[in-house]
Amino acid sequence: MKALIHRGSHEIGGTLIELTSGESRILLDAGYPLFLGGKPIERDIARKPAKELLELGVLPPISGLYSWDVPGFDGIVISHAHLDHYGLLKHVHPDIPVYLSAGTKTLIDVTQTFNKAFNISDPYPINARLFEMYKPFSIGAFTVKPYLMDHSAFDAAAFEISAEGKTVIYSGDFRGHGRKPRCLPSFIRQATKHADVLFTEGTMLSRNDELTPSEEALENDIIAELKDKTGIALVQLSSQNIDRVVTFYKAARKLGRTFAVDGYTAYVLHRLHSLGNKIPHPSYSNLAVFYPFPQGGIFGNQLDPKYAMMFHPYKITKQQVEERQNKLVMVVRPSVKSYLERCNLTGGTYFYSLWKGYRDKKEQQLFDNWLKERGIHDVYMHTSGHARVADIKLLIDGLAPKNIVPIHTLTPDALSGYSDKAVTKDDGVAFEV
Ligand SMILES: [Zn+2]
Ligand SMILES: [Zn+2]
Repeated sequence: MKALIHRGSHEIGGTLIELTSGESRILLDAGYPLFLGGKPIERDIARKPAKELLELGVLPPISGLYSWDVPGFDGIVISHAHLDHYGLLKHVHPDIPVYLSAGTKTLIDVTQTFNKAFNISDPYPINARLFEMYKPFSIGAFTVKPYLMDHSAFDAAAFEISAEGKTVIYSGDFRGHGRKPRCLPSFIRQATKHADVLFTEGTMLSRNDELTPSEEALENDIIAELKDKTGIALVQLSSQNIDRVVTFYKAARKLGRTFAVDGYTAYVLHRLHSLGNKIPHPSYSNLAVFYPFPQGGIFGNQLDPKYAMMFHPYKITKQQVEERQNKLVMVVRPSVKSYLERCNLTGGTYFYSLWKGYRDKKEQQLFDNWLKERGIHDVYMHTSGHARVADIKLLIDGLAPKNIVPIHTLTPDALSGYSDKAVTKDDGVAFEV
């Protein structure tokens, strides 16, 4: 078996790992990069034609992968629904099967639906094959076994891949301090020991200044912050980060407040809840749905109108937001500023619950200033979606692989400080497993 990291050996995101065995070729993740030339990638670059993206290096030169090529891969396995792991599917040949979990597929569908409705981008076809966690499946000469992992993307997976009597383990993105902390020890217990290669994410090897409280600790911090406070609680989070949505939902419930989500968040919760799990649904008694412009119109006209009707019984109006502001925890983002302007808010608390690096954007700063002018108190409430170095160490010690290749990190060499099995690889250089 051969392995080749096309991207990710020395950067965070944009992960692409190729494995070959005889005639069989598979790709682990098809990630869109977060960085270009060492700088965060500009948003509008994604709209450029594929030819330019190839020249820029956004699309690495990989034969048999892209839509204009003769398909040369038996399959692509996607670990989770973050663009830095699936964003290149847009350019992949539509005949190549793409293996993913139901939760990952649903989140990609939701993103495609909303990007179309908001005129951001057109949907692209995905030759999807759903896998179930812990149930091995075959792709050509390979057997792939997925494991549920704790990460800030819902239904994220790690994989154990075997062929020719060799075994490769790919951690995907993971952590041990989210809402499913048992996933990590259970993965360590169940996965094959002494694998030939472990590809482990190493995001935090270079982000050691970031705090990593557990989601449960965040829940308690939110409760402590709001316990004796009046006024509205606003929270800015990623609506697809279900762990975080659940953290704020649970805190709201314990505080006797209603958790008010915008139509988009309600739609994400509804779609995932429909897969059959315990994710809170908009119909729950302590949940309410509001429609900031232009979401109301988009739900009515562009998405299936049944969704607009479905959430109608749980709708909260601007007037109700004003009346009940002391009893709400409300999901917001800079684009809902004009909606909030008409809710006559009198003070309150605003939780910024995203990575700090996003906070410099102009629209965000206008929103921050607006909140400040209204005397709304600002609280940072976040934790990383990535494994603490101690948890990477736990994984390494527990699985005892023969070789460890760090991926999804700026500082792969740092891993050699934790294990003498660590080997740094370069992008584009194949090696024998
Ligand atoms: Zn990632
Ligand atoms: Zn991720």
